[in-house]
Amino acid sequence: MKKLILILLLAFSYDGISQNTYLHCGKLIDTEKGKVLKEMTIVISNNKIIAVEKGYTSIQNPEDVTIDLKTKTVMPGLIDMHVHIEHETNPKRYLQKYTLNDADVAFNSLRFAKATLDAGFTTVRDLGGSGVNISLRKAINLGKVDGPRIFTAGKSIATTGGHADPTNGNRKELMGDPGPKEGVVNSVEDAKKAVRQRYKNGADCIKITATGGVLSVAKSGTNPQFTVEEIKAICKTAKDYGMHVAAHAHGDEGMQRAVIGGVKTIEHGTLMSEETMELMKKHDAYYVPTITAGKEVEGKAKIKGFYPEIVVPKALAIGPQIQKTFAKAYKKGVGIAFGTDAGVFKHGDNGKEFGFMVEAGMPAIETIQSATITNAKILEMENQIGQIKTGFIADIVATNDDPTENISTMEDVVFVMKEGKVYKE
Ligand SMILES: [Zn+2]
Repeated sequence: MKKLILILLLAFSYDGISQNTYLHCGKLIDTEKGKVLKEMTIVISNNKIIAVEKGYTSIQNPEDVTIDLKTKTVMPGLIDMHVHIEHETNPKRYLQKYTLNDADVAFNSLRFAKATLDAGFTTVRDLGGSGVNISLRKAINLGKVDGPRIFTAGKSIATTGGHADPTNGNRKELMGDPGPKEGVVNSVEDAKKAVRQRYKNGADCIKITATGGVLSVAKSGTNPQFTVEEIKAICKTAKDYGMHVAAHAHGDEGMQRAVIGGVKTIEHGTLMSEETMELMKKHDAYYVPTITAGKEVEGKAKIKGFYPEIVVPKALAIGPQIQKTFAKAYKKGVGIAFGTDAGVFKHGDNGKEFGFMVEAGMPAIETIQSATITNAKILEMENQIGQIKTGFIADIVATNDDPTENISTMEDVVFVMKEGKVYKE
C-alpha cells in the first residue's frame, strides 16, 4: 500500500504539483571525492537532485515523501560501457539470426532492459546489435517501457570476414557481399560511409571490431582487421557527427592501430602489451575490461555444443586472460571504464564485474568511480550523471551492505531510482 501511494504521489509530481522526495541514506558514496559519507539526505524534485544535506532532514510539505534507506548504502546510478541489450547468450544463439524477426528481438530486449535497470544500471552503452537497440532507446526515453538510458552504436562496423561481419559462417548463397550500409567496410571511403549511415540510422556512438573475436564463426580471435587509415577515417568522421568510437580488440597489433587511429575506448584488450598501455595513456584512451564476459565464455566453452566448434578453442584461450591484463593495466595507470559485455552472459549479472576488478587489485571505491564518474565523462554527461550532487539527474541506487567492506553486495542492488522515479524498492 505504501508503495502504491508513493507511486501515485510520484506520478502526480509529473503533473506539476510540487512535491519532493527525501531519501534518508545510512551511507552515501561521494564518487567525486571517493568517500563514504554517513547519515545524509538527498532531496529530489521531479527528475533532479535539488539538495544533498547532512543528517536526516524532515519533509517540508505534507505532500512530500520520505524513503527510508537508513540501513543501506546509497550511490549514483551505475553505468555499464559495454552491453548488447538485444540478445542474451544461449545454445541456439547462432541460429537465431535466421529464426527471429526484429519484433521477436524487440520483445526479448524488453526483458533484458528491465533486468539491467533492476541490477542498478541506469545508463548503458550498447555496443552492437541489429538496430532494434535504437528503437528500444527511443521507447525507453519516451517512457513507454522500463529500462536504462541507452547510448547505442546500432550495428557494429567490421571488415569482410571480420568479427561482426553479419554473414560469417554462412553457406555461399547466404553469404552475399555486405557493404558499408550493413556495417562492412574495406576502404577509407567505405569507412566514412558506414559511419554516416550509422548517424543517419540514429546511433549515438560507433563500434568497430579492430581484431578477430571469440564468438564469431571465424578462425582467428586476435588478428588485426582494419588498416590504421580506415580507423582514422572512422574516428575523424565520427567526430564530425559528435560520436566517439569504441574498439573491440583482443590482439595487440589491432589494438595499437585502434589507439593510434583515435578510438576512445578499447574493449576486452586481452593481449594488451605494456607498449599499448603507454600508448593508451598518451592518447587518453580508456580500457573497458569485460572480465565477466571472459570468465563466462570460458565456462560455456566447456559445455559441449554450447558454441560452434570453431569458437571453443578461442574462448578457452582468450577468456581467462582478461583479468590478468586488467590487473596489469590498472597498475600501469591506464584509465579504466567499467564495462561487462552483458548479453554474452545473463543481463542483470553486470554487478559481478565489481568483484572481479577488486580481486585483480583495484580498490572497491575506485571500481564504483569507474562505473560512475569515469563513464559519465566518456559519455560527455559528467555534469548530469555519475554523482549525487545538486543539479544532477536523480539516478540513485542502493545496496544492503557497504561495497567498500563487501563488494559482492554490488550483485544485489535493492533500490533503483532513475530520473526521480522509483523502479525497485
Ligand atoms: Zn561485446
